[in-house]
Amino acid sequence: MNTNKGYVAFVGAGPGDIGLITNKGIECLKKADVVLYDRLANPRLLRFTSKDCTFIYCGKLPNNHIMRQEKINETLVEEALKGKYVVRLKGGDPSVFGRVGEEAEAITKYDISFEIVPGVTSSIAASAYAGIPVTHRDYSTSFTIRTGHACKKNEAAIHHEPKQEAIGDTIAYYMGVKGLPGICENLLAQGKSSDTKVAVIEWATLGKQRVVEGTLKTIVEMVKEAELGNPALTIIGDVVQLRSSIAWFEKKAFYQRKLLIAKSSSEESLLERYFSKNGAEAYAFPTLKAIAHSYTTEELQLIVNAERLIFASAEGVEFVFSQLFKADYDLRDLPRQIEHLSDKTRKGLEKRGIRSIKASYDKRSAIFIGNERTIEKQIFSDNLLALPSHTIQIDERFHEVNKRLLTEDCWETVIFPNKQSVDLFLQEWRKFSERNPMELSFAAIGQSVKEYAAKQGFKHIDEQVQQELDNQDWKREC
Ligand code: SAH
Repeated sequence: MNTNKGYVAFVGAGPGDIGLITNKGIECLKKADVVLYDRLANPRLLRFTSKDCTFIYCGKLPNNHIMRQEKINETLVEEALKGKYVVRLKGGDPSVFGRVGEEAEAITKYDISFEIVPGVTSSIAASAYAGIPVTHRDYSTSFTIRTGHACKKNEAAIHHEPKQEAIGDTIAYYMGVKGLPGICENLLAQGKSSDTKVAVIEWATLGKQRVVEGTLKTIVEMVKEAELGNPALTIIGDVVQLRSSIAWFEKKAFYQRKLLIAKSSSEESLLERYFSKNGAEAYAFPTLKAIAHSYTTEELQLIVNAERLIFASAEGVEFVFSQLFKADYDLRDLPRQIEHLSDKTRKGLEKRGIRSIKASYDKRSAIFIGNERTIEKQIFSDNLLALPSHTIQIDERFHEVNKRLLTEDCWETVIFPNKQSVDLFLQEWRKFSERNPMELSFAAIGQSVKEYAAKQGFKHIDEQVQQELDNQDWKREC
């Protein structure tokens, strides 16, 4: 093995729900210098990468190939030959209609090492999320995966289906929306009953998932009426009828609700996680990154010698601690009284083994640590010194992702966790969408944030979301 060469990991991103990528896949993303990702790989997964990782979108839209396959192969080789750790992130499983064979072959010519990390393929995931077991002792003993896409090479396979006995009990057609009439006709011609159940699942496993259920006779019309489009999977077979009793995802309280979560920090959005878990299509926006401030020796001394420390951000806690540690200080050097502004920060301190108290208006001198913006908004008196731990910046690498996600989906509501998030949201939204943001409903954490958002022009409260925020269950679950 030539060690100067880089490495390529072909990683299955899973079908959409970001919880469905493998641990190994996440490990690869964490190591990546470059990620080449497809349209069907959930771009939220890019957040697992390091700050310096480069993203290359190879999105293929139906009929509109953004990056040609040869160009993708070339880029993989080029980046690996520069010595980079390259992740090729593919929707579902890389080996299932994922062209991993072609891409892997291209790089073997250059003797570049690689691995293939499997993923949950969308037919299995879509079936699970639609409440369809692909096999069942009473209904189906086999499961076949097919492409419904009539490209030249496989046209023969589609139009000359094997005899019914060989068809299999449950069949999943990938890329089959456009070809659905042909698929149904063929199966009927081969003797499948016109009552055979069919489910078409669009954007499976995501909050925006839609399922249309019919039979070989009715499904084409139904799909047309519901205007289902790509990406969608067609599942055909008796197992589809089990949906009526075991569909579970569609019962989630926020199923199909499209919620934006406005952000003001680069930490993971707990609200995004909570609402996604409860069935919503939730997207935290904008994507921010934290740039740490390097403290001078004098500043670190001020911190350890302070009477009180007030932390305004969990991220800030991490930045301060790692710098203190590098400078040979540890927990025992810190002042006894440590305070937090928010619950999230309290948890951040707890992780470091510190039990903090809620920040008080104590007259004793203190050092206030947080991100630069938060600090700007504080009123400082003589006995309060501010030492910003980091600056929050827009992560420009997510530009393409944001543009696509904000315009592709029809968002209903925006959730504001604090006032800063209202300002940032408005500032960034305008860069990506021409839609008037005030058309969105809103919900907020706390009365003052709600009033602030209303003052900026937001008009309609989303009662369902607001109630959920008010009852605080989400905090306990996160
Ligand atoms: N390698 C992928 C398949 C790529 S082919 C996998 O293993 O899943 C692209 C097709 O996959 C789409 O046309 C659609 O049929 C299917 N697909 C991928 N993700 C999907 C999703 N979230 N919901 C429904 N269909 C999906």
